[in-house]
Formats: sequence, structure tokens, C-alpha cells
Amino acid sequence: MTQSLTSQILDGKLVSQQLTASLSEELKVLSGSQAVLPKLVVVLVGDDPASQVYVGKKAKMAQRIGMLSEVLTYPASTSQQELVAVIQKLNTDPTVHGILVQLPLPRQINTLDIITTVDPKKDVDGLHPLNLGLLMTGDPSACKPCTPAGVITLLKAYKVAMAGKHAVVLGRSNIVGKPMGMLLLQENATVSYCHSKTEDLPSLTRQADILVAAVGVPNMVTADFIKPGAVVVDVGINRLDGKLVGDVDFESVAGKAGFITPVPGGVGPMTIATLMANTLALYKRSLA
Ligand code: NDP
Repeated sequence: MTQSLTSQILDGKLVSQQLTASLSEELKVLSGSQAVLPKLVVVLVGDDPASQVYVGKKAKMAQRIGMLSEVLTYPASTSQQELVAVIQKLNTDPTVHGILVQLPLPRQINTLDIITTVDPKKDVDGLHPLNLGLLMTGDPSACKPCTPAGVITLLKAYKVAMAGKHAVVLGRSNIVGKPMGMLLLQENATVSYCHSKTEDLPSLTRQADILVAAVGVPNMVTADFIKPGAVVVDVGINRLDGKLVGDVDFESVAGKAGFITPVPGGVGPMTIATLMANTLALYKRSLA
């Protein structure tokens, strides 16, 4: 049964616009005073349609806020060696401050080898093991993965209390789930991770004051997964019958959660805005 909508929307579109507007102001000032401006390079290998959309959005946003950006595209047949050579060249290019290799990569390429090839100082998505290690130690110099860092920014924008709260992270990927839990821990939440081997998942998610769903299963989280009044963050981006849907069944959960992110318009725009913020931060660090 559909419940009436009472949850407050965590509007990622709005918060990301506020963030990118302030970045744009900063970039305007820089362009009047600096010879070299921040530059993001996105590397896309293959022709995955979703990746092409994400990369296009990233490049468009960079352009909109006045940041230099370039998208390098390579065929799906690109070898590991060829991709390593591309990244090594970007690593030594002083005009490039952020390198993002769009995932997933074609099968013949070892993703970890590629992530590890990116200079940690240019690792704008914070996926290099060095940056993930720094994140784990709570070192502020870690470049934080864009999606989970964007979630924290969104929660803070709505003054969602995290300290002492039970945060349950649904998913344990290196790109979203694991760093999401680490960032919530840094905010002094008590964190549980759930995954595909978790037994009786709803009984755990029902304990969550804050539930972050990052599983990639359309509409999996229904109202019976939720504690009334919980904060529900939907990271999932799935295509269902030609529509974009999250991992959370918005219709049923929106009447029960205290706060909820929509899909689209929730975490997605926060990810892109955080990518811009990370590029600017790496640029500033390169000047220091
Ligand atoms: P992965 O496929 O890498 O990880 C999915 C995780 O969910 C795994 O840990 C897996 O468990 C767990 N899982 C899968 N099915 C179930 C299930 N039935 N019950 C419990 N746990 C399950 O995905 P990502 O982390 O890369 O992405 C997750 C979602 O977020 C996707 O929809 C993706 O498109 C989206 N995404 C959105 C972004 C944004 O900006 N909004 C950015 C990045 C991703 P196990 O480890 O046991 O296999």
C-alpha cells in the first residue's frame, strides 16, 4: 500500500547547485590571478552507455563552473599497457590536477592496477589505495571518494545528526560502500555494513537511524526495511522499464522515513559537485 508522503526530501540537486555556485565564484577569482587553472581529465574506455552519460555530465559541469576539463575516450579493445601509458602521461602533465578513470573498465584491464597507476596527488575520486588508507586513518589529506563524500555534505547541509547514531551501509564496494562507512565513522556514527551474504537484512536495516543503500538492485529497500523516521540515502542508479530508479522503493519508503533522497536529484548531483570540489582542492594543494 502506498503511504502518504511525509518525509523531508534531501535535495541533492539544490545543495549541489549551492556548492558548484561557490566553486564557480572561486574559479572566477583564480582565472584573474593564476596562469595555470584547475583541470580535470576524465578517461573513458569502451562504449558503456551509462558511463558515457556520467562522463558527459561531469565534463558539462566542469565547463559550466569555468573549470578546464578534457574527456579522453578510448576503444573497448584498449590494452592495459596502453591505458597505463595514458595515465602515466597525465601524471607528469603539470596542467592536469585531477584524473578520473571512469569505471567499470573492460575485462582485459585490471582495475586495481589502473587505479594504482594514477598519481595519488591527482586521484580525484580518492580510490588509490594510498588515499583509501589515509581515509581509514582519518588523515584529513585523504582525497575522499566523491559519492560518499557527497552524501556526507548533503547530510550536513540538512543538519542531520550523525554522532552516536546507528548508520547502516547497504553495500561494501570500494567505490561507495566501504568509504561511506568510514566517513560516517569519522562523523562518530556507529556503523554496520550489510552485503549480499548478510542474513535477515531487514532486521538489521530496521535498526538504522541512517540507512545508505548502495546495492544496485532496483527498489530493493521497501518500507519494511525502515525504522520510522530514519534518514534514508539512496545511492543506487538503476534503469527499470526505461526509467531511472534507485535502490530504495521511494513510493513506500517516503511515507515512513524522516528524510529521503530522490533518484534522480539526490546523490547523483552531489557526486558530480564533489568531483569539482575535489579537483579544485587538488589544484590548490599542487600550488602549495
Ligand atoms: P557494486 O556492484 O560494486 O556493489 C554492490 C554492493 O551491494 C556489494 O557489496 C554487494 O554485496 C551488495 N549487494 C548486492 N545485491 C545485494 C542484495 N540483494 N542484498 C544485499 N546486498 C547486496 O556497486 P557500487 O557500489 O559500485 O554501486 C551501487 C549502486 O550505486 C549502483 O546502483 C550504482 O549505479 C550506484 N552508484 C551511484 C553513484 C551516484 O553518484 N549516485 C556513484 C556510484 C555508484 P557483495 O559485496 O556481497 O557482493
